[in-house]
Amino acid sequence: MCFDLGRLPLISILWLVSGSLCFGQIFGLPTPNRALFEPGGEARFFVGTVGKPWASGTFGCVRSDGWQIHEGLDIRSVHRNKTGESVDPILATASGTVAYINHKSSLSNYGKYLILKHQIEGLEIFSVYAHLSAISKQVQVGHTVKQGEIIATMGRTTNTRQGISKDRAHLHFELNLFVNDDFPIWYKKRLPGQRNDHGAWNGRNLLGLDPRAILLEQNRQGSAFSLLKHVRSQPELCRILIRSKNFSYAKRYISLIKRNPLTEREGIGAYEIAINFNGLPFELIPRAPSELVGRAGKISVLSVNQVELDRNPCRKLLQRRGKHWELSSTGQQLIDLLVY
Ligand SMILES: [Zn+2]
Repeated sequence: MCFDLGRLPLISILWLVSGSLCFGQIFGLPTPNRALFEPGGEARFFVGTVGKPWASGTFGCVRSDGWQIHEGLDIRSVHRNKTGESVDPILATASGTVAYINHKSSLSNYGKYLILKHQIEGLEIFSVYAHLSAISKQVQVGHTVKQGEIIATMGRTTNTRQGISKDRAHLHFELNLFVNDDFPIWYKKRLPGQRNDHGAWNGRNLLGLDPRAILLEQNRQGSAFSLLKHVRSQPELCRILIRSKNFSYAKRYISLIKRNPLTEREGIGAYEIAINFNGLPFELIPRAPSELVGRAGKISVLSVNQVELDRNPCRKLLQRRGKHWELSSTGQQLIDLLVY
């Protein structure tokens, strides 16, 4: 399904890079590193954190002994110049438009980064490319890009004190859903006095999916792959009932709403939301007022999947109070932003 560039003549490589790397596929690999699709290629594809194995460069609860999330993939460099700096071209994973560019390394632990917006099967999904050394001149906010188009050069920019060493130069790559357009207003109100250099593009306003799972599933299924199906079948962490009838996530991700004939007669009194371990809502069910009788409170936890919580505990969205589960302060903040 995807071509191995090593076996193609140069002219074909240039054509493929300028066009599409994987025909008929929604997402292409964002760098020339293709080891993800090779058996046992993980150590050649992922860069672990200092002194840790490659798995710490994957998505999920992979840092601090499973208690810290890494919301993207750290993809290893395969092209270096004479001084050993990474020069891998960064490729748009899918066609879309440029949503945001941060040129100032000092403003983010992501260093220089850019975000592309894609519309796929009715889902607005955002790809993030971080730690870049340079961003291509033609890449400007609002401009369209084609899948496979070179948008930047790999690097190791970041504002963290320890920096990223030459040998660990990598692309930090994310695929996210967007939480709320009113994030800047929410942030100002809930976290007064705290700096927000990136407006609605603050990392808290983006919820990551596992790009590795998406790329592998797509490679396995070929043209049968559906992003919508993939999102809808996320492992469930819990179900929450929120007394909001109207919020921007429900409008933006209409395709994640499950039809409820009762609400078509009675109207909507609340939303039941299924979230994955990362707090990403992947199923929204409108609930009619008659279904809410006897339920008090603005937000309630309806059910918790203990197996999934034990498997992925790092987001700490839930806490137990006696026999019952409730949202932790992190969980409350996430839902507060979702429905704000
Ligand atoms: Zn990373």
